[in-house]
This record gives sequence, structure tokens and C-alpha cells, in this order.
Amino acid sequence: MSELTAQSPQRPLRVGMFGGAFDPPHWAHRALAETALQQLELDQLHILPTGQAWHKTRVLTPAEHRVAMCERAFAGLPRVLVDQREIRRDGPSYTADTLAELATEYPGARLFLILGADQLLAFKTWVRWQEVLQCATLAVASRGVNIGAEAVSDSQLAQDLSGVDIPFTRLGMPLHNLSATAVRAQVQGRSRRYPDLDVLVPEGVAHYISEHHLYRHAT
Ligand code: ATP
Repeated sequence: MSELTAQSPQRPLRVGMFGGAFDPPHWAHRALAETALQQLELDQLHILPTGQAWHKTRVLTPAEHRVAMCERAFAGLPRVLVDQREIRRDGPSYTADTLAELATEYPGARLFLILGADQLLAFKTWVRWQEVLQCATLAVASRGVNIGAEAVSDSQLAQDLSGVDIPFTRLGMPLHNLSATAVRAQVQGRSRRYPDLDVLVPEGVAHYISEHHLYRHAT
């Protein structure tokens, strides 16, 4: 059980969960974590690199690298914990399971699931999404219309969430046209749009990628 449970009974703890492949974590991930911490007034934010992502077809970079990069990407943010439970869990990672665990670990807390607009639009494909909604408030950041390989653009067009018929709260974060796919493409030399990896990922992550020769080959 978390030591944070000993707080004042008047204000339930506010605990965030931010999951992703983080392959690699980039500036938009850090901005999203920072925004969530501030705007949701979180007492704790769990960053959860996914284990076996049920919805990604690509083979992910080994978990130890993604965890090490998350430690660097989110370094210095207060009340943030890189949580390895989904990596240690056997089988696919389901958010419903993680939220159920967090609910037990922080009894009486208000849980928030932090995600980008693309994930909100796909939310009803998630396994046991109804359980997720019962456990947590969805807190959503806008994302540009172009994601994946096309993400790095100057477009200010955000994905349209007007048709979403499930409850969610919006995080006020400016658009970050960036994706892990675009970062990997940059490292492979397939994209020359930016001269420097530091523009796409925090410096510690850029160093880690070059030290460990990650993303040199297309996957
Ligand atoms: P990939 O390009 O490999 O699919 P990604 O950049 O989308 O990766 P993930 O690790 O899959 O990164 O994303 C984790 C979470 O961060 C998701 O909820 C996703 O919506 C959100 N996210 C990622 N990039 C952005 C962005 N540029 N703006 C807002 N949210 C983002």
C-alpha cells in the first residue's frame, strides 16, 4: 500500500496513470505528464511503459530500454513514478487490470487515466473499457490530425473529439505534432525534417538512444 494513503481525509488523493509504449518517450509525453500533474493537481502520477501491447503490431524495443528512457524522459518532474508492473505482468497489458490494482493500492483515491486524443477515439476498442470508465476519469490532451509517421508537421488541426459519447475531461495542452514513429524514422535517417534528435526527445533520451544504438534498423 502506498504511504500516500495517510493523507487528510477531506481531500481524496488524486492519482494519475499514463500508459504507453514509450518507444521512445518524447517531448509530447513529457509535456502531457507535466500538464496532467498541474491541471489535475495530482498527488502521484504513475508512468506505465506497456509490456506486451495488445494493440500494437510492431515488436517493441526491449522493456529495459524503454524503462531506462522513461526514467530519463520524466526526470525532474515531481510526484512521478516509472511503474514497471505492466512489464512484469505475464500476458498482454490491460489498463483495466492496472487501474483495479491502483484502486486497491490507493483506497478512496480519485483515479485519472491520462491519454492523447487518438487513444480516446479508439477507446471503445479497449478490452473492458467499461471497467476503465468506472475506475477512472479520462483526462485527454489534443493531438494533431496527423499521427504516426506523418506526425511531424506544422498543421494546427486537432483531432475532432466532438463525436465522442463517453465522459472525459480535457487537458489544456498546446498541440505537439510529434510521435514515437517520427522519432524512430529520424534516427534511421529516413526523415531529415529536424537536424537534431534533442528537438524531438529530452536530452537524456537522445543520449540513451545513441549510446545503445537504438532504432537504427526499421522494425
Ligand atoms: P507511436 O508513434 O509509436 O504509435 P506515440 O507517439 O503515439 O507512439 P505512445 O507511447 O503510443 O506514443 O503514446 C502514449 C500516450 O501518449 C498515448 O495516450 C498517446 O495518445 C499520447 N501521445 C503520444 N504522442 C502525443 C502527442 N504528440 N500529443 C498528445 N498525446 C500524445
